[in-house]
Amino acid sequence: MMIVKTAEFMTSAAKSSQYPAPGPPEIAFAGRSNVGKSSLINVLVNRRRLVKTSSTPGRTQLLNFFDINGEFIFVDLPGYGYAKAPAAVRKSWGPMIETYLKTRPCLKGVVAILDIRREPREDDLNLLGWLDHFGISRIVALAKSDKLSKSGQKKRLDQIAGALETDPSDLIPFSAKTRAGKDRVWEGIRNLLDQGPGKPKEA
Ligand code: GDP
Repeated sequence: MMIVKTAEFMTSAAKSSQYPAPGPPEIAFAGRSNVGKSSLINVLVNRRRLVKTSSTPGRTQLLNFFDINGEFIFVDLPGYGYAKAPAAVRKSWGPMIETYLKTRPCLKGVVAILDIRREPREDDLNLLGWLDHFGISRIVALAKSDKLSKSGQKKRLDQIAGALETDPSDLIPFSAKTRAGKDRVWEGIRNLLDQGPGKPKEA
């Protein structure tokens, strides 16, 4: 169990010159717009609205940095894949996220969030592909698990594992509503933080 004593917004950034000076280890959160990323982060840190759940999906196009316990940093990456977002916003997503993932020396790993009810889409697979390519460790949370029965969850877990070519035990069903999976996500984050030097420098 992780005890969050303090969770504070640090800054927003569009480009790397606006990132905070590299310091404590960072964990980034990535997922499609509306997947439940803000809700997941808020549940992890026990705050109602540390991360504002956006009423206009696809609008927020910034990276948001949050200091947790003065120990590590959560980085909320802009949600991708919102079809109705203006073309310019959709186009800015890739470079923004890619720049962060490629260049950030203190990045320890990524929490990739998928909707347990849906097949991973092309942008989800692209993200996971990038992470592999850059040698960045990740865990995968399957949000909104409360929307399915236990047997429904199991079925989707197997299907998504197949699509991602990974083991079902590698995927963490999560619900912001019931908080199911919270401890497993924290355990995964702990492992990312505790791993050795992190990603190779020349990814
Ligand atoms: P984001 O755009 O990825 O940050 O998604 P949000 O956290 O803003 O959530 C999008 C919508 O899904 C909101 O209406 C949330 O209340 C809802 N939602 C998020 N997580 C869950 C969950 O675990 N269970 C259910 N039932 N709804 C959720």
